[in-house]
Amino acid sequence: MANSIKTLGALLRRWLASANELEQQRQGDQQLRLSEERLRLATEAGKVGVWDWDVVANRISWTGSLYAIHGVQPGDFDGTAEGFAALTHPDDRDAVQRAIERALTGDQPYEIEFRAVRPDGETIWLYTSASVIRQRGRPVRMVGATVDINARKRTELALRESEERFAKAFNASPLSLTISSLKTGKLLEVNETFVNVSGFARGEAIGRTTVELGLWVSAQDRESEMNAVRAAGRVRNLVCRFRTRRGEERIGLLSAEKILIGEELHALTVIQDITEREQAQAASRESEQRLRLALQAASAGVWEVNVATGKTFWSDEFQSLYGYTSSTARSYATWIASIHPEDRQSVDADFQRRLTSGRSEFRQEFRIIHPTRGVRWILDLSRIMRDANGEAVSFSGINLDITRLKHIEEELREADQRKNEFLATLAHELRNPLAPIRNGLEILRLTQSGGDIAERARSMMDRQLQQMVRLIDDLLDLSRISRGKIELRRAPIDLMTALQSALETSEPLIESAGHELSVDVPAGPLMVDGDLARLSQVFANLLNNAAKYTNPGGHIWLTVRRTDEQVSVTIRDNGIGIPTHMLPKIFEMFAQVDHSLEKAQGGLGIGLSIARKLVEMHGGVIEAHSDGHGAGSEFVVRLPAHLATQSETTTPVPKDHSLRPDALRVLIADDNADAAASLAMMLKMKGHEVRTAWDGLEAVQVAEAFQPDVALLDIGMPELNGYDACRRLRARSESAGMLIIALTGWGQEEDKRRSEEAGFDHHLVKPADVRILDKLLEQAEVQRAIVHNDS
Ligand code: ADP
Repeated sequence: MANSIKTLGALLRRWLASANELEQQRQGDQQLRLSEERLRLATEAGKVGVWDWDVVANRISWTGSLYAIHGVQPGDFDGTAEGFAALTHPDDRDAVQRAIERALTGDQPYEIEFRAVRPDGETIWLYTSASVIRQRGRPVRMVGATVDINARKRTELALRESEERFAKAFNASPLSLTISSLKTGKLLEVNETFVNVSGFARGEAIGRTTVELGLWVSAQDRESEMNAVRAAGRVRNLVCRFRTRRGEERIGLLSAEKILIGEELHALTVIQDITEREQAQAASRESEQRLRLALQAASAGVWEVNVATGKTFWSDEFQSLYGYTSSTARSYATWIASIHPEDRQSVDADFQRRLTSGRSEFRQEFRIIHPTRGVRWILDLSRIMRDANGEAVSFSGINLDITRLKHIEEELREADQRKNEFLATLAHELRNPLAPIRNGLEILRLTQSGGDIAERARSMMDRQLQQMVRLIDDLLDLSRISRGKIELRRAPIDLMTALQSALETSEPLIESAGHELSVDVPAGPLMVDGDLARLSQVFANLLNNAAKYTNPGGHIWLTVRRTDEQVSVTIRDNGIGIPTHMLPKIFEMFAQVDHSLEKAQGGLGIGLSIARKLVEMHGGVIEAHSDGHGAGSEFVVRLPAHLATQSETTTPVPKDHSLRPDALRVLIADDNADAAASLAMMLKMKGHEVRTAWDGLEAVQVAEAFQPDVALLDIGMPELNGYDACRRLRARSESAGMLIIALTGWGQEEDKRRSEEAGFDHHLVKPADVRILDKLLEQAEVQRAIVHNDS
């Protein structure tokens, strides 16, 4: 079409040239007629419109075909240059005007593609070509031909748009795209992704083959692609290895298609970079492999059950844990039948509960019966997978054989038990030799012979003895706590009594270190429901610690506060303090901040754990605060207040009595000769009349003759133990008013209960506190006086 228009243009120009000559010669010519004839035919056949513009008169005449092309009626075109301009598209008016001017002035042929607007509003594309006729060098006429090129223009535009779209898609594709000649292998085009991934600039790649670029790790891949495209016209999803410009290897998924460009066959190749995907898959394969190996190494069995279908998976390890074979039916029923009969019901119930429990993770220990290995302990750790609605989809878990651990646990428990029993026995055995020592010291005090030096030595020994008694008591408490054997004797008490007793205990330590003690206590009773002895033990421990862990000349504050609900006791010091990281551990058994010998102030690290246990048994709490090393420490004990009147307080033992103590007759029975002899000596020095016996039977016999007011009986004696000796004494009417006291190394609640049952009035733990013994003897004197007065 375009070519035929050009031919037409040339024809027209030739005709015009001859017309020009004609104009100049003003005469007809054979050639002109021939030309005219050809043009007429051409215009009629090709719908060519011819126009003739008399430049001087500004008159344009159109052929009928040109009116048709413009869609204009003959009356509607005024035949002037301006009228023509009005018909051209506003955007093209200038271009047309310039082209005309160039043709008029510059001898250039007039040839232009432009748009015109028809009266009905349709825009049409036109091609026009014309020649200028001159007279004496001045343009006088322009004669031209115009063709409707609308159809060609539309095709051309559509083609360009589609090319642009293709180019855009080609470049914007996230996949690498190349077009290469099938014949030469040379690259015709590559897209941006190719440039980014391969590292080759577009200019470097185009015109060279992918082999020349060194893109293929294996030439075989390239051959496969090309052969497949040639033979089948396409190739799909070929996994290939590529090398980038930097030498890095990548994995690509290649597809190609044969396309025809011009006359030549090309391959359009698409490559998806799947390196990361492949690496991730390889990594997950590896991690799966590792997990499998780890599970194998741990002999961990994996199981899974689909809740809806009941379909069950057991790993090989799982099957060997239970002794299943490949023919064992995989079902819940099989599994539950393997559980030890004693555990089966609870395990089954637990599994049924899981579905409705709302929890996701579970842990259970149970026994199974393995067909060849017998009873084994299994730990099951499992989890429920739920869907978006929270419905259980599947159950899965791992099983571990923990039989060995269970045995070790059992052994440990037994060893711990044995240790506790050993500690209890040890403490008890240590108490026995302390009794005669304490008695001996008391004797030395009473005789007061040996002067000042001896007195100092004696009181030093007394203090050390007390410390030893405390340590042994702690040891006993510890073993009782760990066996849950501590019992409180609770009654409504005034906490001040406990604090006074604690202060009495700790005073020597506080004083010897030269600490200042500040006490701040509210007026009135501080009633709590507590065990007096145990609470004073707690406060004495805290006061002792404050004294021990504060450098000499320090300050200790004892502050008591009361609200309606609770009483709080704060014991603060300005001592060495407690590092923050140790604060949470300080109440644990054997916890000491510094185990080095210089710093461990003669303790076992169990005082605070006993204190905490005792406070908790009272329904209270104990806290430790410290800002760290050198910042002092603060211990706070909070106890629930007892809402009672003072009348409930226990009446203390009367201290004052008007009766002059007469000598008591005291019987001492102990198979430890030293203990019996020293106690006898001490009591004799206090003015009492004393007899001793070495066993229970002898004690009963001596009592018959001696008629004692007080009998102090050891429990563990040969021939007849203390309990039975006491029963026999009680059975006799003469000894109705006799005060019978158990004096023994065994101080647990159980022992006290037994001695009460046997008829003992009191139960003292060796070495008996001399002050308490004195008090009891005073009571016996009062008792005897009352009995005598009555009779
Ligand atoms: P012990 O005093 O026999 O070692 P405790 O259980 O009474 O055992 O105390 C445990 C540890 O807590 C002590 O060894 C000491 O390190 C630390 N401690 C206790 N009270 C104080 C205090 N008032 N100041 C600094 N440290 C303390």
